Amino acid sequence: MSLMNDVLHFDDNTGVLKCQSGCILENLENLVNDKGYTVPVDLGAKGSCQIGGNISTNAGGLRFVRYGSLHGNVLGLKAVLPSGEVLDCMNTMRKNNTGYDLKHLFIGSEGTLGIVTEAAILCYPRSSETAVAFLGCNSFEDVLSCARVIRQKLTGLLSSLEMLDDPAADTLKDNLKINVPISKHPFYVLVEISGETRSC
Ligand SMILES: Cc1cc2nc3c(=O)[nH]c(=O)nc-3n(C[C@H](O)[C@H](O)[C@H](O)COP(=O)(O)OP(=O)(O)OC[C@H]3O[C@@H](n4cnc5c(N)ncnc54)[C@H](O)[C@@H]3O)c2cc1C
Repeated sequence: MSLMNDVLHFDDNTGVLKCQSGCILENLENLVNDKGYTVPVDLGAKGSCQIGGNISTNAGGLRFVRYGSLHGNVLGLKAVLPSGEVLDCMNTMRKNNTGYDLKHLFIGSEGTLGIVTEAAILCYPRSSETAVAFLGCNSFEDVLSCARVIRQKLTGLLSSLEMLDDPAADTLKDNLKINVPISKHPFYVLVEISGETRSC
C-alpha cells in the first residue's frame, strides 16, 4: 500500500483531508499543520504507520480524549472487496445522516473485509499553545479522582490524559533509558492541555 500515498485534496475551509490509504500518518500531520490543522489521531508509530493501517485497527492514540475515535473522524472511504468490487463510501460532509453507513465495517476490521484504498479524514484547527504535566499518584483510586477533577476543570482544553503504573515506568527505564521526571510513585498521570492564548 506504500505506493498508494497520494494526498488527493485538503479543504482548508472544512478541514477535510482526502488521501490514499498508504499515506504515512506523520506526513499527513505535517501537511495539515502547515494549513493550521491537526489530524485527530497521533501514535508513537506515526513515522511509519499508514492511515489505512490506522483506520483498519481503529487506532485510538493520544488525542482520543479530545477528538474521539476514527469512527467519528473518518467521514468516508473507498475499499476493494475480496471479489474485486470497489465499494465507494467516499463522503466528505460531516453531517451526513443518510442511510446505511457501511464505512464503519472497515474501521477496526483489520483488513478482513477488504482493502481500504482512500479515506476522507476530518482534521481539527491546530492549537497554538500546549502545556504538559506529569503527576504522581499514591493509589489507583487517586488516579481516578485526578482524572475526574482534570476532566471537570479542564473541559475544552484537555488534549491527552494517560496513566502508567510504576512497573511500566521501570520497563521504560530498563529498555529505553527514559526516567520519569518526578520521584517514584505507584502510579503516574500524564496530562496535556492545548488551546489558544487570548490577550485580555
Ligand atoms: C486493535 C488495535 C488497536 C490499536 N490501538 C492503538 C492505539 O490506541 N494507540 C497506538 O499507539 N497504537 C495502537 N495500535 C497499534 C497501531 O494501530 C498501529 O501501530 C498502526 O495503526 C498500524 O498501522 P500500520 O500502517 O503499521 O498497519 P499494519 O501494522 O501494517 O497493519 C495493521 C492491520 O491493518 C491491516 N491493514 C493495514 N492497511 C490496510 C488497508 N489499507 N486496508 C485494509 N487493512 C489494512 C493489516 O492487514 C493489519 O491487520 C493498535 C493496534 C491494534 C491491532
